[in-house]
Amino acid sequence: MTLLPAEALNLILARVVPLPAQRLPLQELLGLAAAEDLCSAAQVPPFTNSAMDGYALRAGDLATASEAQPVRLQVLGDLAAGGVHVGVVGSGEALRIMTGAPLPEGADTVVPVEATSRGEDWVEVCHPLRLGSHVRPAGEDLQLGQRLVAAGQGLRPGDLGVLAAAGIPFVSAHPRVRVAVLTTGDELVDVAEQPGPGRIRDANIHALCAQVAACGAIPVAYPRVPDDRTILRGVLREALQAEVVLTTGGISVGDYDFMKPILEELGAERVFWKVAQKPGGPLGFWRLGSTPIFGIPGNPVAAMLMVEEYVRPALRRMMGFTKLHRPQAEAALEGGWSGKADDRRTTFLRVVARRENGQLQARLTGPQGSAILSSMLTANALAVIPAGIDRIEPGGPVLLHLTEEAEDH
Ligand code: AMP
Ligand code: MG
Repeated sequence: MTLLPAEALNLILARVVPLPAQRLPLQELLGLAAAEDLCSAAQVPPFTNSAMDGYALRAGDLATASEAQPVRLQVLGDLAAGGVHVGVVGSGEALRIMTGAPLPEGADTVVPVEATSRGEDWVEVCHPLRLGSHVRPAGEDLQLGQRLVAAGQGLRPGDLGVLAAAGIPFVSAHPRVRVAVLTTGDELVDVAEQPGPGRIRDANIHALCAQVAACGAIPVAYPRVPDDRTILRGVLREALQAEVVLTTGGISVGDYDFMKPILEELGAERVFWKVAQKPGGPLGFWRLGSTPIFGIPGNPVAAMLMVEEYVRPALRRMMGFTKLHRPQAEAALEGGWSGKADDRRTTFLRVVARRENGQLQARLTGPQGSAILSSMLTANALAVIPAGIDRIEPGGPVLLHLTEEAEDH
């Protein structure tokens, strides 16, 4: 059964559910999705306070102030942030006040220190001020009970700051998914090794673990697996303890492609194998119990593309995000493109997209073979060419998935 990309994605998304929420402290929440709407537990600021270093006073006292006739007020004392003034600021009086200190009773306005002249126990002001100038009223920022974050929204640094100010030390959020990542192939060696004859460095383990981490999930890199049924079976059995399993290589029709039969021997239920797309057709998706298993091809470009298009949305759903898909946009494909006539597959091209005079322009990153990993270096988007289209004229329209922008739907 060969599926359209959208059919494959729907089958996957229909089979993954958010991990149970946990109550987590703010310092563990960056990038996680809230599991419930979050409302302010306090008003912010909690009390009316000074927005400037200056003098708290009554605006009415300054009504007649001018350069020629400054108004002189008696200074009652000093108030730093964190302190409280006991007593009232009356007419003809002022209190030296620092930014963030509570506005004393009786005062209604703050004059910035730069606009004053000071004597031993007096201060002069030579212009009137609007009532309430340089005063931050209690609750001007956040109201008690105001909704701050919606369930399913990812928490960013600013959100965490707001939650802290709003008196919310813990949040019920969906935890990071642990993803077992396995690369397979007799030819693979570690990046630090000098590959012997016929061997190549394992690029995928690094690219894929990084993609998983970039989703906010936790990659667990397993030892490389040779093309050996017994070893593969053993490693898979262990990897299946994770919440998600992601394997590369050995998923096609080569003589040493054991992934499918071994997964099925271990009891994994096949949802589908193969998507009509290029690069990366032989994507397989299984489940063992509730554990999703992605078997993706070994060709490094195909592998990364599969993670971007299928694994990432699934991990996001498991982590409780409402928005699963990257922004899409139409662009003009600068140099055009020509593919195979009558190709029944969707083609994904790596492109560099940029905005020019309000119009999105895209350019291929270079040769597009599924083993040309350097085509990823400058890519910031994927152009998606539907099956049946074998030519795009220079400047013709293409649909982009903006793979470096936050998901928007
Ligand atoms: P396979 O999917 O196992 O048939 O592999 C397809 C191609 O991708 C072969 O040329 C492999 O050598 C290459 N390949 C497989 N796994 C990796 C990997 N982890 N890193 C780099 N290249 C790989
Ligand atoms: Mg292989």
